[in-house]
Amino acid sequence: MSKVLLSETIHESGIRLLESEAEVIVCPEPTEEAIGSLIKGVDGLIIRTAGKVTREMIKQAVQLKVISRTGGGLNNVDVDAATEHNIVVCGVKGPQDRMVAEHTIALMGALTKQFFYLDAQVRKGNFASRKEYRPAGLSGKRVGLIGLGRIGRIVADMCTRAFQMEVWAYDPYLTPETLGSEHIVLKDDMAEVIRTADFLSLHVPLTADTAGMLGSAEFDSMKPGAFVINTSRGEVVQEAALVAALKSKKIAGAGLDVFEKEPPDAANPLFDLENVIVTPHSAALTKEAVALLAQGSAENVLRVLDGKKPSYSPNWDTVRGKAG
Ligand code: NAD
Repeated sequence: MSKVLLSETIHESGIRLLESEAEVIVCPEPTEEAIGSLIKGVDGLIIRTAGKVTREMIKQAVQLKVISRTGGGLNNVDVDAATEHNIVVCGVKGPQDRMVAEHTIALMGALTKQFFYLDAQVRKGNFASRKEYRPAGLSGKRVGLIGLGRIGRIVADMCTRAFQMEVWAYDPYLTPETLGSEHIVLKDDMAEVIRTADFLSLHVPLTADTAGMLGSAEFDSMKPGAFVINTSRGEVVQEAALVAALKSKKIAGAGLDVFEKEPPDAANPLFDLENVIVTPHSAALTKEAVALLAQGSAENVLRVLDGKKPSYSPNWDTVRGKAG
C-alpha cells in the first residue's frame, strides 16, 4: 500500500478518499524539520500553505512520486528540484477562485464603508459617528488590478457588474486580443494603474518578478485616498514600505489576507494601525471550498500514483516525458 504524508491535517473528506487506497501519515507540525524527517519513506506528500518543500528535502525523498498542494499557488515547493528528481508537482485550481474574489470585494467594502470603526462607535454609544461621514461609495471608482488571471478576472467582473466600478488592469502576459472583455481597460504601464487607482488589488503569483513589486516608490505615487488590497502572496508587497505609507496616510488603508511572514509576529506594526483590516490567509478557506480543495489534492495524489494526469501540474509533461 502506498504511503501519503500530510504536512498537516486536511478536511476529513480528503483523508477518507486517501485512506481508501493508501496509508495516511499526518505530520505533527508543518515545519521543514518535521516534514523532512518523514518524507523519506512516503510515495506522496500533500502540503498546505504553511511549510516548504525544499531541494534538500526532495533529495532525501527517494520514494516520493508526487507533491500535491491543497491550492493553486506552488511557491512553497521547489518545482525545479522536484522535476529533476522526477516528482510530479500538482495543485488544485478552481474552488478557491470565486471565494478569494469574494474576500477581495468584502475587504474593499469593509474598508470603504468603515464597518469596523463604525461598529465600535455604535457599541460604545457614539451614534453621532454617523455625522463623521466616513463611508464612501464604490460606484464610479477605479479599481486597479495587478494580475488578471483566474481570480483577477472574477474580481473585475464583480466590480463592473455589481458596483459599476471602472477596472484598469496590468498583466504583461495578456494582449488586447487575449483580454476577452469589453469592461476592462488593459494597460501596459503598471505605474499608471498604480497611480490612478482608488483601489489597488493584487492578483499575481509570487515569482522572482513579482516579489516586492509594491514598495515605497509605488505607494508614494498613489492617490492619498486609495486603498490597497492583497489577497495574493504577502511577499509581493514590501511590508515595511506599506506600514510607512499607511502611517503617514500616503494611502488611506489596506485590506490584507497575506503577509511577508506567516503567521505574522504579534508585534507586526500593521496591527497597531487603525486603517488596516487583516485576515489570516483565509480567503479560500470557506466552508464550501476547504472540502473541495482537500478532495482535489487527495484525488491528484491518487491519480499520479495510478499513472494518471492530475487536474493541474506545471511539470507533468516533463516528468512523464523523461519516463519515456
Ligand atoms: P493565475 O495564475 O490564474 O493568474 C495570475 C495572473 O498574474 C496571470 O494572468 C499572469 O499573467 C499574471 N502575472 C504574472 N506575472 C505578472 C506580473 N509580473 N505583473 C502582472 N501580472 C502578472 O492565478 P490566480 O489563481 O488568479 O491567483 C492569483 C494569486 O492569488 C496568486 O498569488 C495565488 O497564490 C493567490 N491565492 C491566494 C489565496 C488566498 O487564500 N489568499 C487563494 C488562492 C490563490
